[in-house]
Amino acid sequence: EAGDIDTIWQNGEFVDWEDATTHVLSHGLHYGTGVFEGVRCYDTENGPAVFRWEDHLDRLFQSAQPYEMDIEYSREELTEATLELLDRQDLASCYIRPIAYYGYHQLGVSPGDCPTDVAIAAWPWGTYLGEDALENGIKAMVSSWRKHSSSQIPTNAKTTGLYVNSLLAGEEARRNGYREAIVLNKEGNVAEGPGENIFLVRDGELYTPGLSESILDGITRQSVITLAEELGYTVHDNVSISRGELNTADELFFTGSAAEVTPIRQVDNVVIREDGRGPVTKEIQEAFFDVVESGEREEWFTYV
Ligand code: PMP
Repeated sequence: EAGDIDTIWQNGEFVDWEDATTHVLSHGLHYGTGVFEGVRCYDTENGPAVFRWEDHLDRLFQSAQPYEMDIEYSREELTEATLELLDRQDLASCYIRPIAYYGYHQLGVSPGDCPTDVAIAAWPWGTYLGEDALENGIKAMVSSWRKHSSSQIPTNAKTTGLYVNSLLAGEEARRNGYREAIVLNKEGNVAEGPGENIFLVRDGELYTPGLSESILDGITRQSVITLAEELGYTVHDNVSISRGELNTADELFFTGSAAEVTPIRQVDNVVIREDGRGPVTKEIQEAFFDVVESGEREEWFTYV
């Protein structure tokens, strides 16, 4: 849990957990003007290693761009801070949360001279969607909330304010007895989960919504596309998926840094897999866990 750790990196310094505070008039608190990442460090056979750290850094800086937010720490400084944070707390297998947000200068919507505050925290974390989810799959509900369109807000920037939509969708699903939501875009096609991308398997081929479907281009999504293609699968990663296709899919699964590769066994009242997890999902899941457990694909790891 994020509350069980003792050190957080904040604006260039390592501070005690209870001192890592921010002003109540911070711009980011009022207007959702923060950008962040969720990254996993795996305790691989080659030692603790951060999965696709460089790609997460790329996305963090890209997310800041539409908000003209100037993260004044270099990639090297953020990397060094993160590795030291893990080292100081003896964290091997954990979740890493870098965040940059507009702090306080004044409270107009225009951030003006608000500083960009930056923090990094890391804490031990297990599976995201529950212990048996990886094997037996989860039940997902198509949310009544649509995702914001990328014509309304840059959906490919991982921005704090966007997650009120994720909260509404996820909580609605859980209130109705489902583990997670599937969120449609403004056009009514499948976008993604509240914090996951989605893949569909049909006739032995993979389909995942393209970037123009108002999704976040997940780094696990990219990893799964690479691994699936290496396994010989055809992956259609630039398509629209209609709501109805969910119900007739052979297999469905979520991907995400938190969710990893999680099978979806049921959508609304339609059972997709009596057996919980389909054979293609299982093969891709195994390929993914092989990589993160072995740490053997060096270009994907930053060793602690
Ligand atoms: N979509 C959304 C909305 C997310 O929050 C996440 C989690 N960052 C993802 C997709 C999956 O992205 P990644 O694989 O990079 O974690």
